[in-house]
Amino acid sequence: MKKYHITTFGCQMNFHDSEKMAGILDAEGYQETANPIDADIIIFNTCSIRQKAEQKFFSQLGKIKSLKKKRPSIKIAVAGCIAQHYGSKIFEKAPYVDFVLGTQNLHLLKDFLNKDFYGLAIDENPSLTDTDLPIKRYSPIIAYVNIMYGCNNFCSYCVVPYTRGPEKSRTHTSIINEVKELASRGIKEVILLGQNVNSYRSELNFPQLLVKINEVKGIERIRFITSHPKDLSDELILAIKDLDKVCEHIHLPLQSGSSKILRLMNREYTYYDYLSKIQKLRKEVPDIAITSDIIAGFPQETEEDHLQTIRALKEIEFDGIFSFKFSKREGTVASQMSGQVDEEVKSRRLYEIIEIQNEITERKNKKLEGTYQEILLEGLPKKEIEKFMGRTRTNKICIIPKKDDLKEGDVVKILITKANRHSLLGSIV
Ligand code: SF4
Repeated sequence: MKKYHITTFGCQMNFHDSEKMAGILDAEGYQETANPIDADIIIFNTCSIRQKAEQKFFSQLGKIKSLKKKRPSIKIAVAGCIAQHYGSKIFEKAPYVDFVLGTQNLHLLKDFLNKDFYGLAIDENPSLTDTDLPIKRYSPIIAYVNIMYGCNNFCSYCVVPYTRGPEKSRTHTSIINEVKELASRGIKEVILLGQNVNSYRSELNFPQLLVKINEVKGIERIRFITSHPKDLSDELILAIKDLDKVCEHIHLPLQSGSSKILRLMNREYTYYDYLSKIQKLRKEVPDIAITSDIIAGFPQETEEDHLQTIRALKEIEFDGIFSFKFSKREGTVASQMSGQVDEEVKSRRLYEIIEIQNEITERKNKKLEGTYQEILLEGLPKKEIEKFMGRTRTNKICIIPKKDDLKEGDVVKILITKANRHSLLGSIV
Protein backbone atom coordinates (compact mmCIF):
# COMPACT_ATOMS: atom_id res chain seq x y z
CA MET A 1 0.00 0.00 0.00
CA LYS A 2 1.33 3.47 -0.90
CA LYS A 3 1.82 5.87 1.98
CA TYR A 4 1.48 9.61 2.48
CA HIS A 5 2.62 12.15 5.01
CA ILE A 6 1.17 15.64 5.48
CA THR A 7 2.91 18.41 7.40
CA THR A 8 0.49 21.19 8.29
CA PHE A 9 1.48 24.75 9.18
CA GLY A 10 -0.80 27.55 10.36
CA CYS A 11 -4.42 27.94 11.28
CA GLN A 12 -7.50 25.72 11.73
CA MET A 13 -8.45 26.39 8.12
CA ASN A 14 -5.23 24.69 7.03
CA PHE A 15 -5.71 21.87 9.53
CA HIS A 16 -9.13 21.23 8.02
CA ASP A 17 -7.76 21.44 4.44
CA SER A 18 -5.26 18.74 5.49
CA GLU A 19 -8.20 16.63 6.67
CA LYS A 20 -9.65 16.99 3.16
CA MET A 21 -6.38 16.03 1.43
CA ALA A 22 -6.02 13.04 3.78
CA GLY A 23 -9.63 12.09 2.94
CA ILE A 24 -8.86 12.12 -0.80
CA LEU A 25 -5.68 10.07 -0.31
CA ASP A 26 -7.43 7.52 1.92
CA ALA A 27 -10.19 7.18 -0.68
CA GLU A 28 -7.51 6.51 -3.31
CA GLY A 29 -6.13 3.66 -1.21
CA TYR A 30 -3.15 5.43 0.36
CA GLN A 31 -2.25 4.98 4.01
CA GLU A 32 -1.11 7.80 6.30
CA THR A 33 2.31 7.56 7.93
CA ALA A 34 3.74 9.73 10.68
CA ASN A 35 7.23 9.31 9.23
CA PRO A 36 8.00 11.19 5.99
CA ILE A 37 10.86 8.77 5.26
CA ASP A 38 8.31 5.97 4.71
CA ALA A 39 6.04 8.06 2.50
CA ASP A 40 5.47 7.83 -1.27
CA ILE A 41 3.93 11.28 -1.25
CA ILE A 42 4.81 14.14 1.08
CA ILE A 43 2.55 17.19 1.22
CA PHE A 44 3.42 20.45 2.91
CA ASN A 45 0.25 22.38 3.68
CA THR A 46 1.75 25.82 4.17
CA CYS A 47 1.00 29.14 5.85
CA SER A 48 2.22 32.56 4.74
CA ILE A 49 0.63 34.75 7.37
CA ARG A 50 4.05 35.62 8.85
CA GLN A 51 7.61 35.49 7.61
CA LYS A 52 8.56 33.04 10.35
CA ALA A 53 5.99 30.47 9.15
CA GLU A 54 7.36 30.80 5.62
CA GLN A 55 10.96 30.39 6.73
CA LYS A 56 10.04 27.33 8.76
CA PHE A 57 8.41 25.74 5.72
CA PHE A 58 11.29 26.47 3.32
CA SER A 59 13.77 25.07 5.83
CA GLN A 60 11.74 21.84 6.14
CA LEU A 61 11.37 21.64 2.38
CA GLY A 62 15.15 21.93 2.02
CA LYS A 63 15.61 18.91 4.28
CA ILE A 64 13.44 16.78 1.98
CA LYS A 65 15.76 17.39 -1.00
CA SER A 66 18.16 14.59 -0.01
CA LEU A 67 15.24 12.18 0.41
CA LYS A 68 14.09 12.91 -3.14
CA LYS A 69 17.65 12.30 -4.40
CA LYS A 70 17.73 8.88 -2.74
CA ARG A 71 14.20 7.97 -3.86
CA PRO A 72 13.28 9.92 -7.02
CA SER A 73 9.88 8.19 -7.20
CA ILE A 74 8.69 9.99 -4.08
CA LYS A 75 6.28 12.85 -4.84
CA ILE A 76 6.65 16.18 -3.12
CA ALA A 77 3.70 18.57 -3.10
CA VAL A 78 3.29 22.08 -1.76
CA ALA A 79 -0.24 23.14 -0.89
CA GLY A 80 -1.81 25.99 1.09
CA CYS A 81 -1.18 29.72 1.17
CA ILE A 82 2.50 29.69 0.12
CA ALA A 83 1.57 27.51 -2.85
CA GLN A 84 -1.14 29.98 -3.84
CA HIS A 85 1.05 33.03 -3.26
CA TYR A 86 4.28 31.90 -4.95
CA GLY A 87 2.83 29.57 -7.58
CA SER A 88 5.45 28.50 -10.14
CA LYS A 89 8.20 30.36 -8.23
CA ILE A 90 8.21 27.36 -5.87
CA PHE A 91 9.68 25.25 -8.71
CA GLU A 92 12.44 27.84 -9.19
CA LYS A 93 13.26 27.77 -5.48
CA ALA A 94 12.91 23.99 -5.15
CA PRO A 95 13.04 22.11 -8.50
CA TYR A 96 12.53 18.80 -6.68
CA VAL A 97 8.89 19.75 -5.90
CA ASP A 98 6.49 17.77 -8.12
CA PHE A 99 3.32 19.76 -7.84
CA VAL A 100 1.89 22.90 -6.34
CA LEU A 101 -1.71 22.90 -5.22
CA GLY A 102 -3.40 26.21 -4.41
CA THR A 103 -5.95 26.78 -1.68
CA GLN A 104 -8.92 26.57 -4.07
CA ASN A 105 -7.78 23.44 -5.91
CA LEU A 106 -7.63 20.65 -3.34
CA HIS A 107 -10.07 18.62 -5.44
CA LEU A 108 -7.32 18.31 -8.10
CA LEU A 109 -5.14 16.25 -5.77
CA LYS A 110 -6.79 13.09 -7.12
CA ASP A 111 -5.90 14.07 -10.72
CA PHE A 112 -2.30 14.67 -9.74
CA LEU A 113 -2.12 11.16 -8.33
CA ASN A 114 -3.96 9.30 -11.03
CA LYS A 115 -2.37 10.96 -14.03
CA ASP A 116 1.07 11.06 -12.48
CA PHE A 117 0.73 14.77 -13.17
CA TYR A 118 3.41 17.31 -12.41
CA GLY A 119 2.69 20.99 -12.32
CA LEU A 120 0.68 23.81 -10.95
CA ALA A 121 -2.97 24.31 -9.93
CA ILE A 122 -3.61 27.76 -8.49
CA ASP A 123 -6.57 29.08 -10.50
CA GLU A 124 -9.55 30.64 -8.80
CA ASN A 125 -12.26 28.04 -8.32
CA PRO A 126 -15.72 29.66 -8.53
CA SER A 127 -17.43 26.39 -7.51
CA LEU A 128 -15.30 26.03 -4.39
CA THR A 129 -18.38 26.20 -2.19
CA ASP A 130 -19.86 23.13 -3.89
CA THR A 131 -16.84 20.85 -3.58
CA ASP A 132 -17.88 17.68 -1.89
CA LEU A 133 -14.57 16.17 -0.88
CA PRO A 134 -14.07 13.12 1.34
CA ILE A 135 -12.81 14.29 4.73
CA LYS A 136 -10.69 12.35 7.18
CA ARG A 137 -11.77 13.55 10.63
CA TYR A 138 -8.87 13.35 13.04
CA SER A 139 -11.11 13.82 16.09
CA PRO A 140 -14.13 11.58 16.79
CA ILE A 141 -15.62 14.29 19.02
CA ILE A 142 -14.94 17.71 17.48
CA ALA A 143 -15.27 18.60 13.79
CA TYR A 144 -14.41 21.63 11.71
CA VAL A 145 -16.99 22.76 9.19
CA ASN A 146 -16.19 25.37 6.53
CA ILE A 147 -19.09 27.76 6.19
CA MET A 148 -17.30 30.18 3.89
CA TYR A 149 -14.02 30.67 2.07
CA GLY A 150 -11.89 33.70 1.32
CA CYS A 151 -12.03 37.29 2.51
CA ASN A 152 -12.99 40.69 1.07
CA ASN A 153 -11.51 42.87 3.77
CA PHE A 154 -7.97 43.58 2.60
CA CYS A 155 -6.54 44.51 5.96
CA SER A 156 -3.35 46.24 4.89
CA TYR A 157 -1.00 43.69 6.49
CA CYS A 158 -2.73 40.49 5.41
CA VAL A 159 -2.14 38.10 2.50
CA VAL A 160 -5.32 36.08 2.98
CA PRO A 161 -7.49 37.92 0.40
CA TYR A 162 -4.71 37.17 -2.14
CA THR A 163 -4.13 33.56 -1.10
CA ARG A 164 -7.73 32.51 -0.37
CA GLY A 165 -9.57 34.72 -2.86
CA PRO A 166 -12.83 36.64 -2.44
CA GLU A 167 -15.53 35.62 0.05
CA LYS A 168 -17.77 32.71 -0.96
CA SER A 169 -20.41 31.33 1.41
CA ARG A 170 -21.62 27.75 1.28
CA THR A 171 -25.36 27.22 1.08
CA HIS A 172 -26.97 26.74 4.47
CA THR A 173 -28.51 23.45 3.33
CA SER A 174 -25.13 21.91 2.53
CA ILE A 175 -23.71 23.13 5.86
CA ILE A 176 -26.66 21.79 7.87
CA ASN A 177 -26.54 18.45 6.04
CA GLU A 178 -22.86 18.16 6.90
CA VAL A 179 -23.55 18.96 10.57
CA LYS A 180 -26.38 16.38 10.69
CA GLU A 181 -24.11 13.77 9.16
CA LEU A 182 -21.41 14.59 11.73
CA ALA A 183 -23.93 14.30 14.57
CA SER A 184 -25.01 10.89 13.29
CA ARG A 185 -21.37 9.79 13.57
CA GLY A 186 -21.07 10.87 17.21
CA ILE A 187 -19.52 14.32 16.76
CA LYS A 188 -20.43 16.48 19.76
CA GLU A 189 -18.92 19.84 18.89
CA VAL A 190 -18.71 21.69 15.58
CA ILE A 191 -16.33 24.57 14.94
CA LEU A 192 -17.60 26.72 12.09
CA LEU A 193 -14.75 28.07 10.00
CA GLY A 194 -14.39 31.20 7.92
CA GLN A 195 -11.96 34.12 7.68
CA ASN A 196 -14.84 36.32 8.77
CA VAL A 197 -17.83 34.18 9.77
CA ASN A 198 -19.82 37.31 10.67
CA SER A 199 -20.19 38.16 7.00
CA TYR A 200 -21.55 34.70 6.12
CA ARG A 201 -24.50 35.09 3.77
CA SER A 202 -26.66 32.65 1.85
CA GLU A 203 -30.43 32.84 2.19
CA LEU A 204 -29.54 33.07 5.87
CA ASN A 205 -27.13 35.36 7.67
CA PHE A 206 -24.70 34.02 10.27
CA PRO A 207 -26.95 34.31 13.39
CA GLN A 208 -29.78 32.64 11.44
CA LEU A 209 -27.40 29.83 10.44
CA LEU A 210 -26.52 29.38 14.13
CA VAL A 211 -30.22 29.01 14.94
CA LYS A 212 -30.50 26.17 12.40
CA ILE A 213 -27.37 24.38 13.59
CA ASN A 214 -28.53 24.73 17.18
CA GLU A 215 -31.53 22.56 16.22
CA VAL A 216 -29.38 19.60 15.08
CA LYS A 217 -29.90 16.70 17.49
CA GLY A 218 -26.72 15.17 18.93
CA ILE A 219 -24.58 18.31 18.56
CA GLU A 220 -23.90 19.69 22.04
CA ARG A 221 -21.59 22.59 21.34
CA ILE A 222 -21.11 25.14 18.57
CA ARG A 223 -18.06 27.36 18.21
CA PHE A 224 -16.94 29.63 15.37
CA ILE A 225 -13.80 31.36 14.20
CA THR A 226 -12.94 34.08 13.20
CA SER A 227 -15.11 37.15 13.72
CA HIS A 228 -14.32 40.59 12.34
CA PRO A 229 -15.28 43.26 14.91
CA LYS A 230 -16.84 45.55 12.28
CA ASP A 231 -19.36 42.82 11.39
CA LEU A 232 -20.24 41.73 14.92
CA SER A 233 -23.97 42.50 14.98
CA ASP A 234 -26.44 42.85 17.86
CA GLU A 235 -28.24 39.88 16.33
CA LEU A 236 -25.12 37.73 16.73
CA ILE A 237 -24.65 38.88 20.33
CA LEU A 238 -28.22 37.80 21.07
CA ALA A 239 -27.66 34.47 19.31
CA ILE A 240 -24.68 33.78 21.58
CA LYS A 241 -26.86 34.70 24.56
CA ASP A 242 -29.99 32.75 23.57
CA LEU A 243 -28.81 29.61 21.76
CA ASP A 244 -27.97 26.94 24.32
CA LYS A 245 -25.36 25.14 22.22
CA VAL A 246 -23.41 28.23 21.16
CA CYS A 247 -20.46 28.43 23.55
CA GLU A 248 -19.65 31.53 25.55
CA HIS A 249 -16.42 32.36 23.79
CA ILE A 250 -15.54 34.69 20.96
CA HIS A 251 -12.23 35.32 19.25
CA LEU A 252 -12.38 38.96 18.19
CA PRO A 253 -9.08 40.28 16.82
CA LEU A 254 -8.42 43.85 18.01
CA GLN A 255 -4.89 44.14 16.47
CA SER A 256 -4.12 47.55 18.04
CA GLY A 257 -5.46 49.84 20.74
CA SER A 258 -4.65 52.90 18.63
CA SER A 259 -7.39 54.14 16.30
CA LYS A 260 -4.70 55.74 14.11
CA ILE A 261 -3.02 52.35 13.61
CA LEU A 262 -6.38 50.63 13.08
CA ARG A 263 -7.04 53.09 10.25
CA LEU A 264 -3.65 52.33 8.69
CA MET A 265 -4.48 48.64 9.03
CA ASN A 266 -7.77 49.26 7.14
CA ARG A 267 -9.70 47.55 9.93
CA GLU A 268 -12.75 49.82 9.54
CA TYR A 269 -13.36 50.36 13.26
CA THR A 270 -11.89 52.61 15.91
CA TYR A 271 -10.81 51.44 19.31
CA TYR A 272 -14.00 52.97 20.73
CA ASP A 273 -16.21 51.09 18.26
CA TYR A 274 -14.47 47.90 19.36
CA LEU A 275 -14.83 48.72 23.04
CA SER A 276 -18.52 49.42 22.72
CA LYS A 277 -19.05 45.99 21.10
CA ILE A 278 -17.18 44.34 23.96
CA GLN A 279 -19.37 46.20 26.45
CA LYS A 280 -22.52 45.02 24.65
CA LEU A 281 -21.24 41.45 24.56
CA ARG A 282 -20.47 41.47 28.27
CA LYS A 283 -23.78 43.09 29.14
CA GLU A 284 -25.73 40.34 27.33
CA VAL A 285 -23.39 37.41 28.09
CA PRO A 286 -21.60 38.32 31.35
CA ASP A 287 -19.42 35.19 31.53
CA ILE A 288 -18.27 35.26 27.93
CA ALA A 289 -14.54 34.65 27.35
CA ILE A 290 -13.01 37.00 24.81
CA THR A 291 -9.70 36.32 23.12
CA SER A 292 -7.93 38.47 20.58
CA ASP A 293 -4.95 39.06 18.27
CA ILE A 294 -2.49 41.91 18.67
CA ILE A 295 0.22 43.08 16.27
CA ALA A 296 3.24 44.84 17.79
CA GLY A 297 5.21 47.40 15.79
CA PHE A 298 2.93 48.05 12.81
CA PRO A 299 4.44 50.72 10.47
CA GLN A 300 4.20 54.25 11.95
CA GLU A 301 3.34 52.87 15.40
CA THR A 302 4.75 55.37 17.90
CA GLU A 303 5.41 54.82 21.57
CA GLU A 304 2.09 56.53 22.30
CA ASP A 305 0.24 54.13 19.94
CA HIS A 306 1.91 51.22 21.70
CA LEU A 307 0.85 52.62 25.09
CA GLN A 308 -2.71 52.83 23.79
CA THR A 309 -2.55 49.10 23.05
CA ILE A 310 -1.25 48.45 26.57
CA ARG A 311 -4.08 50.57 27.98
CA ALA A 312 -6.58 48.64 25.83
CA LEU A 313 -5.33 45.31 27.20
CA LYS A 314 -5.76 46.61 30.75
CA GLU A 315 -9.17 48.10 30.03
CA ILE A 316 -10.66 45.11 28.17
CA GLU A 317 -8.94 42.29 30.07
CA PHE A 318 -9.01 39.60 27.41
CA ASP A 319 -8.97 35.98 28.52
CA GLY A 320 -6.01 35.43 26.22
CA ILE A 321 -4.35 36.85 23.14
CA PHE A 322 -2.16 35.77 20.26
CA SER A 323 0.40 38.50 19.79
CA PHE A 324 3.00 38.86 17.05
CA LYS A 325 5.54 41.30 15.74
CA PHE A 326 4.44 42.97 12.52
CA SER A 327 5.81 40.95 9.62
CA LYS A 328 6.11 42.41 6.10
CA ARG A 329 4.19 40.26 3.64
CA GLU A 330 5.00 40.63 -0.03
CA GLY A 331 2.21 42.24 -2.05
CA THR A 332 0.43 43.84 0.91
CA VAL A 333 -0.06 47.59 1.36
CA ALA A 334 1.62 47.62 4.79
CA SER A 335 4.82 46.10 3.42
CA GLN A 336 5.29 49.27 1.33
CA MET A 337 4.38 51.76 4.08
CA SER A 338 6.86 54.33 5.31
CA GLY A 339 7.77 54.35 8.98
CA GLN A 340 8.65 50.66 9.39
CA VAL A 341 9.53 49.99 13.03
CA ASP A 342 12.97 48.62 14.06
CA GLU A 343 13.07 44.92 14.93
CA GLU A 344 14.44 45.69 18.39
CA VAL A 345 11.59 48.08 19.15
CA LYS A 346 9.03 45.56 17.87
CA SER A 347 10.54 42.86 20.08
CA ARG A 348 10.46 45.06 23.15
CA ARG A 349 6.85 46.12 22.52
CA LEU A 350 5.81 42.52 21.96
CA TYR A 351 7.50 41.53 25.21
CA GLU A 352 5.60 44.24 27.10
CA ILE A 353 2.31 43.15 25.55
CA ILE A 354 2.90 39.51 26.49
CA GLU A 355 3.96 40.38 30.05
CA ILE A 356 0.82 42.40 30.71
CA GLN A 357 -1.50 39.88 29.10
CA ASN A 358 0.09 36.96 31.00
CA GLU A 359 -0.66 38.69 34.27
CA ILE A 360 -4.28 39.38 33.18
CA THR A 361 -4.85 35.81 31.92
CA GLU A 362 -3.49 34.31 35.12
CA ARG A 363 -5.59 36.63 37.28
CA LYS A 364 -8.75 35.87 35.30
CA ASN A 365 -8.15 32.12 35.47
CA LYS A 366 -7.57 32.31 39.24
CA LYS A 367 -11.08 33.70 39.63
CA LEU A 368 -12.36 30.37 38.33
CA GLU A 369 -10.91 28.41 41.26
CA GLY A 370 -13.79 27.03 43.33
CA THR A 371 -16.33 27.43 40.50
CA TYR A 372 -18.23 24.66 38.72
CA GLN A 373 -17.73 24.28 34.98
CA GLU A 374 -19.00 21.98 32.28
CA ILE A 375 -16.30 20.36 30.15
CA LEU A 376 -16.41 18.21 27.03
CA LEU A 377 -13.83 15.42 27.28
CA GLU A 378 -11.59 15.45 24.21
CA GLY A 379 -8.97 12.83 25.08
CA LEU A 380 -5.70 12.38 26.91
CA PRO A 381 -3.38 15.30 27.43
CA LYS A 382 0.14 14.77 26.07
CA LYS A 383 2.15 12.28 28.17
CA GLU A 384 -0.54 12.19 30.87
CA ILE A 385 -2.24 8.84 30.44
CA GLU A 386 -3.81 8.98 33.88
CA LYS A 387 -5.68 12.19 33.05
CA PHE A 388 -8.40 13.44 30.77
CA MET A 389 -8.36 16.73 28.87
CA GLY A 390 -11.43 18.78 28.04
CA ARG A 391 -12.50 22.35 27.47
CA THR A 392 -14.93 24.56 29.31
CA ARG A 393 -17.66 26.25 27.29
CA THR A 394 -15.42 29.33 27.46
CA ASN A 395 -12.69 27.35 25.63
CA LYS A 396 -10.30 26.96 28.58
CA ILE A 397 -8.30 23.75 28.71
CA CYS A 398 -9.06 21.71 31.78
CA ILE A 399 -7.32 18.56 33.07
CA ILE A 400 -9.09 16.09 35.34
CA PRO A 401 -8.10 12.70 36.80
CA LYS A 402 -9.08 9.75 34.61
CA LYS A 403 -11.96 7.52 35.70
CA ASP A 404 -13.02 4.20 34.19
CA ASP A 405 -16.61 5.27 33.61
CA LEU A 406 -15.57 8.37 31.64
CA LYS A 407 -14.92 8.47 27.93
CA GLU A 408 -14.15 10.93 25.15
CA GLY A 409 -17.25 12.87 24.19
CA ASP A 410 -18.77 12.92 27.69
CA VAL A 411 -19.86 16.29 29.00
CA VAL A 412 -19.13 16.43 32.73
CA LYS A 413 -19.55 18.94 35.52
CA ILE A 414 -16.33 19.65 37.40
CA LEU A 415 -15.04 21.76 40.25
CA ILE A 416 -12.00 23.87 39.35
CA THR A 417 -9.39 23.10 42.00
CA LYS A 418 -6.43 25.02 40.58
CA ALA A 419 -5.92 27.54 37.82
CA ASN A 420 -2.70 28.04 35.88
CA ARG A 421 -2.05 30.50 33.09
CA HIS A 422 -2.62 27.98 30.30
CA SER A 423 -4.85 25.38 31.90
CA LEU A 424 -7.22 24.58 34.74
CA LEU A 425 -7.18 21.53 36.99
CA GLY A 426 -10.46 20.09 38.14
CA SER A 427 -12.21 17.23 39.84
CA ILE A 428 -15.49 15.56 38.96
CA VAL A 429 -18.41 16.69 41.07
S1 SF4 B 1 -10.32 40.08 7.92
FE1 SF4 B 1 -8.36 41.08 7.52
S2 SF4 B 1 -6.90 39.89 8.78
FE2 SF4 B 1 -8.75 38.62 8.57
S3 SF4 B 1 -8.34 37.33 6.78
FE3 SF4 B 1 -9.46 39.14 6.03
S4 SF4 B 1 -7.84 40.57 5.39
FE4 SF4 B 1 -6.86 39.01 6.68
